[in-house]
Amino acid sequence: MSLPTVAIVGRPNVGKSTIFNRIAGERISIVENIPGVTRDRIYATGEWLNKKFSLIDTGGIELSDEPFMTEIRAQAEIAMNEADVIVAVVDGETGLTDADEAVAQLLYHTSKPIILVVNKVDNPERRMDIFDFYSLGLGDPYPVSAAHGLGTGDVLDAIVENLPADLEEENPDLIKFSLIGRPNVGKSSLINAILGEERVIASPIAGTTRDAIDTHFTDPEGQEFVMIDTAGMRKSGKVYENTEKYAVMRAMRAIDRSDVVLMVLNAQEGIREYDKRIAGFAHEAGKGILIVVNKWDTLVKDDKTMKKFEEDIRWEFKYLDYAPIVYVSAKTGQRLSQIPEQIKEISASQNLRISSSILNDVIMDAVAINPTPTDKGKRLKIFYATQVAVKPPTFVVFVNEEELMHFSYLRFLENQIRKAFVFEGTPIHMITRKRK
Ligand code: GDP
Ligand code: GDP
Repeated sequence: MSLPTVAIVGRPNVGKSTIFNRIAGERISIVENIPGVTRDRIYATGEWLNKKFSLIDTGGIELSDEPFMTEIRAQAEIAMNEADVIVAVVDGETGLTDADEAVAQLLYHTSKPIILVVNKVDNPERRMDIFDFYSLGLGDPYPVSAAHGLGTGDVLDAIVENLPADLEEENPDLIKFSLIGRPNVGKSSLINAILGEERVIASPIAGTTRDAIDTHFTDPEGQEFVMIDTAGMRKSGKVYENTEKYAVMRAMRAIDRSDVVLMVLNAQEGIREYDKRIAGFAHEAGKGILIVVNKWDTLVKDDKTMKKFEEDIRWEFKYLDYAPIVYVSAKTGQRLSQIPEQIKEISASQNLRISSSILNDVIMDAVAINPTPTDKGKRLKIFYATQVAVKPPTFVVFVNEEELMHFSYLRFLENQIRKAFVFEGTPIHMITRKRK
């Protein structure tokens, strides 16, 4: 699903990131601490009245060594390019400023819906001050206090009203994937090589998002794929394109649209903080993951090179132990044909459904091998388990007391499920529920 996008703009300090955090929905997490995933968030998903959207805090995309106005202009440009709805924030405590007017001037260039939010209206007396902001020409101001959570419901109503109708039909036969990785790891080369290898009529079709061009292709067995274009492939020469935050935001958006994410690494460089952050996001989002080690041709190898590499990857990406690894060269073509095969297998794992009776046999066997934990003389009792979703496969375990379930025991159950069925390349979500 391609989520409609909402971008937050406004001069510094008006409360954009506070509003962002209010609106951003938390992702279900099965791993407590993945470094960097929640830090400096500028991209998240939100939901209101059953409508999902992605949310960008353009204020987080800062340019170093650029004048204030260049930065504000870049942020407004990103909002106008990426978003379906723009939330323009001003500060009701400080009142109208020249910088607010400058932002408004920039936003006159778009025909996209704009919601004007006057933040820091912490008490009713301040509500009178919002009328000044009509002069911005951005429509009716919405008073909110993001710090106290006041008025945000009305803003969310307005956002949802202005979102476009569902963007694309979900085609279950289609596998969507993207290649994610730092600049120069070889993403473009891999894309060209994969498309060449498959010898397909790759007809670029205009994507549903405004700027992305997705590539459709069909492999010799008739499987349809969509390759999602990501940051760094088509440069337009804008000042913000080289900032890490922008690259991360684009990567996260591509991941949200993908079924399977190809995490591309350069064999010469190993794993960096950026890779961990992006991989952690894909994992949390429940996407299928294939780790692609490119430029394999550049290494002087012996019989231990691959094993050593695998150990490093498993160590750095501890929570991605389910993700297969392929060692390829876009230059020589080595093992490239494995990539579409792996994508298909991962997609099958993502969509696998296990019947409750077989699942419960596995759970009961698991409990027999490793008895459930106890706490203060009370033992966890598992009544039954059931699969409630695919993409990612999600299991609910019904128990006597939720508090008695330990993270480590849930992890053990997940591993037993993985041993019994083929869930290669996909995260599994495990949820504990008290049986009523
Ligand atoms: P940004 O630079 O636009 O992202 O602004 P921030 O979200 O970082 O907020 C700037 C400052 O305004 C912080 O000190 C916030 O605590 C404060 N702030 C944010 N929302 C409110 C609010 O509703 N009321 C008040 N009084 N302060 C707020
Ligand atoms: P991107 O920025 O991730 O899209 O990376 P590119 O595809 O533009 O590749 C960056 C550089 O690495 C280019 O000079 C490529 O020719 C080179 N390159 C890409 N893949 C390989 C590979 O498998 N082996 C070698 N030796 N060079 C590669």
